[in-house]
Amino acid sequence: MNKAELIARCADAGISPNRRLGQNFLFNETIIARIVAAAGIQPTDRVLEIGPGMGTLTEAIAERAASVHAIEIDAGLARHLRDAFAHRDTVTISHADFLKSAPVPGITKIISNLPYYCASEILFAIATGYANPETYVMLQREMAARIAARPGGKDYGALTVTLGFYFSMERLFDIDKQSFHPAPEVTSTFIRLARTDIAAHDARWIERFHTVVKSAFWGRRKPILGALVESPHARFVRDGVIAALASCMIPPNTRAERLSVDDYRALTEALAERE
Ligand code: SAM
Repeated sequence: MNKAELIARCADAGISPNRRLGQNFLFNETIIARIVAAAGIQPTDRVLEIGPGMGTLTEAIAERAASVHAIEIDAGLARHLRDAFAHRDTVTISHADFLKSAPVPGITKIISNLPYYCASEILFAIATGYANPETYVMLQREMAARIAARPGGKDYGALTVTLGFYFSMERLFDIDKQSFHPAPEVTSTFIRLARTDIAAHDARWIERFHTVVKSAFWGRRKPILGALVESPHARFVRDGVIAALASCMIPPNTRAERLSVDDYRALTEALAERE
């Protein structure tokens, strides 16, 4: 499909893209083909798509997967998609806010061109609500850089560590703004997220990990000892923090952005032992 055809399809359906909902529709068929090839869709896959928009990617996924469950927040788009996919009984369209929806059971793969305004919340909801081994998403190039960042780099932050706990990330390719209607202001990047093994940790441990990370980055400019002890997110006792840092061989004057995901795991463990 070219841009003129997508615009005509939107006009026929009475849809004008809503920027507030991050509606930048992908029409470049070469890119759509690259996405479905990179995602390695199997005939047994039960795919979840968040924000199907005008359904261009949905169609390509539906041709290869056992089923597609697409969740779209926009009532007009959801109505249009139900009509457009009425001939395919393997496609389910839910009109809902993904962030307020219960996880869809049985999903084996997630593929989505994410709405950029809430991409980090969606990734966190996928991390905590789903168990599929692989997730493929398109997001802003800057956000992909933050997820992929290494300790000490300018893009490294709480988002990197939080998502790094659940996923290992691979940047696959960039997508030019002109592949979308309307063209977004930034370049997009398509990434693969493979789930890490967190089975050893229970819900309480994971909650504590998030508290440690939030606390450390709350005081981003502070040394880690001060950031943790003065954190508004927790009540860590100074002596316990000093002992936990020592047991992890982390100097108390280290800054949050210098510590790896493994350092944060070790610190969570060490702090738990001193609670
Ligand atoms: N997948 C389509 C494509 O590639 O052309 C559309 C992608 S567009 C970047 C993002 C889509 O997500 C829009 O259709 C928008 O309405 C939808 N959306 C935004 N927020 C959402 C939410 N919280 N839950 C579900 N869908 C959402």
